[in-house]
Amino acid sequence: SQPTDTDDESEATLRTPIVAVLGHVDHGKTSLLDEIRGSAVTEGESGAITQHIGATAVPLDVISEIAGELVDPTDFDLPGLLFIDTPGHHSFSTLRSRGGALADIAILVVDVNDGFQPQTLEAVDILARTQTPFIVAANKIDTTPGWNPNPDTPTQRTIDAQTDRVERDLNENLYELIGDLSDNDFSADMYWRVQDFQNNIGVVPVSAETGEGIPDLLTVMMGLSQRYMKEEMAVDVGGPAAGTVLEVTDTQGFGATVDAIIYDGTIRADDEIVVGGVEGPIVTEVRALLRPRPLEEIRTEGQFEQVDSVAAADGIKIAAPDLDDAMAGAPIRVVGDRDVDDVIEDVRAELADIAVQTVEEG
Ligand code: GDP
Repeated sequence: SQPTDTDDESEATLRTPIVAVLGHVDHGKTSLLDEIRGSAVTEGESGAITQHIGATAVPLDVISEIAGELVDPTDFDLPGLLFIDTPGHHSFSTLRSRGGALADIAILVVDVNDGFQPQTLEAVDILARTQTPFIVAANKIDTTPGWNPNPDTPTQRTIDAQTDRVERDLNENLYELIGDLSDNDFSADMYWRVQDFQNNIGVVPVSAETGEGIPDLLTVMMGLSQRYMKEEMAVDVGGPAAGTVLEVTDTQGFGATVDAIIYDGTIRADDEIVVGGVEGPIVTEVRALLRPRPLEEIRTEGQFEQVDSVAAADGIKIAAPDLDDAMAGAPIRVVGDRDVDDVIEDVRAELADIAVQTVEEG
C-alpha cells in the first residue's frame, strides 16, 4: 500500500484520497476526528497506524478492522483514507492543490439535534462551489433522549436496538436534516438507501462520543472514493512530488520546517524543492523528511524519525534551509529532472492564484 522508507519504483499507482471534515462550530468535527484516530489506534496493530503531522493516515486494513462485517477489503484497491487534522472550512479553503481543493472528499458534520446552522450552510456552499463529493455525518445520535449506547457498532444495528420511541425521535431529526439539505438543492437520503452517490448525498447517523456509526462512515467514504475518485487517484507515484504546506513550524535541531501533505509523486530526502514563500518561491534542498515516532519509542529515540522518501498521499515534516518565510497553504514542488526555472514559474503562478482566491473570499 503506502511505501515509505524505500526507493522502490514498483509502487501502487492509486493514491490515498484526502478527506476534510467541515461543519458548524460545536457540532463535533474535532471529536469525530479524535474518535476515528482513536479507533484506528485501537484496532491497528502497533505501528500500523502512524499519527502524521497535520494529517492522519488510516490504511485499508485498519478500516476493514473497524468496519468489520460492513467491509470486504477485496472490494477496494485504494490504500485507505488520509484525514486532514485541522477541521473547518477555513482550512478547507486555504489548503489547495493544483486543481482546486486539496481535499478530494469531505465529511459534513451536523449535530442531529441542532440541524443546519450558518456555518453548515457556508460549508455546503464551499463544497458545491469546489464540486467536492461529500457525505453528511449526522452526529450526536447518542444524545437522543433515552438512547441506549452500543459503542463502535454499525449504525443500523444500534438504531434497531433502541426503543420505538427513541428510534422515532431520532428519525424525526434525521428527516428534518434531509429536508434542510433538500432546501439547499441537495437531494439526500439515509446512506443505505442511496444508490447514486454522485446525485444524492448519503446521511450517516453517528456518535463521535460512543463510536456508533463510525464503521459505516469509513465504509461509505471508502465506497464513495472507490466509485467516483479512482481516476483522480491514479497518479504517477514515482514522479516528482507535489504538495501543500499545512504549517511552518520550528523543530528542535532543524530550525524552520514545514508540515506538508504530499498529494502527487514522491519526495526524497535529498531532493531539490521549490516552496511558496511570503516573498515568492523559495528554492532549497531537502535536509530531512521527518515522521513522528510511535508513542512508545519517543522517550528513547526522540520525537521524529527520518525517512528516505514519502509517496502520495501522506503527511510529512520537511526540514530544509531557508524555510522561515514559507507560507501555509503554499505549493511545494520537487524539481526532479525538470528545469528549475519552469518549476519556479509554476509555483509563482499558483501563489498568484491563492492571492486571488483570498481576495475573493475577503
Ligand atoms: P467542533 O467545534 O465541531 O470541533 O466540535 P467538538 O468536537 O469540539 O464538539 C463540541 C462538543 O460536543 C464537545 O463538548 C464534545 O464532547 C461534544 N460532542 C461531540 N460529538 C458528540 C457526540 O457524538 N455525542 C455527544 N454526546 N457529545 C458530542
